[in-house]
Amino acid sequence: MFAGIDIGGTKIKGILTDRSGRELSFREIETLKTAKDIDDSIIRLIEVLATSASVSKIDIKGIGIGTPGPIDKEKGLIIKAPNIPSFNNHPIAKNIESATGTKVFLENDATVALIGAWWKENVSKYRNWIMITLGTGIGGGVVIDNKIYTGQAGNAMEVGHMSIDYNGRECPCGSRGCWERYASAPAMVELGRELLKKNKKSSIQGRLDEEELSAKMISEEAAKKDETALKILEGYAAYVGFGIANLVNIFNPEAILIGGGVSRAHRLFLPSVKQVVNERVLKGFKGKCAILPLEDPMKVPAFGAAKIAINAMNG
Ligand SMILES: [Zn+2]
Repeated sequence: MFAGIDIGGTKIKGILTDRSGRELSFREIETLKTAKDIDDSIIRLIEVLATSASVSKIDIKGIGIGTPGPIDKEKGLIIKAPNIPSFNNHPIAKNIESATGTKVFLENDATVALIGAWWKENVSKYRNWIMITLGTGIGGGVVIDNKIYTGQAGNAMEVGHMSIDYNGRECPCGSRGCWERYASAPAMVELGRELLKKNKKSSIQGRLDEEELSAKMISEEAAKKDETALKILEGYAAYVGFGIANLVNIFNPEAILIGGGVSRAHRLFLPSVKQVVNERVLKGFKGKCAILPLEDPMKVPAFGAAKIAINAMNG
């Protein structure tokens, strides 16, 4: 069996699977602050995955890790990760390998998500497709003519930093108007704060004494038909749509899959996204590209990370 670890800005997910993709156990933990704490928590997570599947750690043949990057795959280093500042030339593969005695394979988060979707979701009928993950940032990956396009050094499709407003909001990357400054989960929260100032009657207001505003909270209240929450999601959907329209015009894909934590609320915002995309793409592209939510957005990247290990060890 194989373990897949998906490191995100707020959560780390781990899965234990056999070669065929049968899930043996799954767990989710918080992303801690320091690189050392993160390593230790992943080592514990792997133990918990084994215990809860009633198997021995020794039976885990390989561990795949997906992480925000850029990374150095060969050296197993996380060079830098904008949303996890403590990762700075961090030798995560070596650390986890020496603690577990199991071979570790590192890959960037967008690629593991893409590979996970290819393995576990229903995409076999498409030859040209894109996957977008809407989370703390926005990740992307593209399959062209049935091959993953990785670019020069494996870092292609940084779609989150595609500018949709050249004079827009500053981005930590140094540019302006980057898509993820408008269409990531934190961007939805920002938009929410703005609209909530003007809408004191929203059911969200009542929850703010206890909890911080989050994309999850906005989606939950929208599901209960709170008007402000629905308005926030509609504004958010427009930003998601602007970026997707650019991708449709550039790649002319058969499908765009939407994953990431935000995509769990797809029923509430994907119809508006589709409308905006159809308004913005070239006429010939209208209605030609399927825009689909992942069926299992929470597990797909962890599955993809495990698949990296399976492939690397010749499955
Ligand atoms: Zn940027």
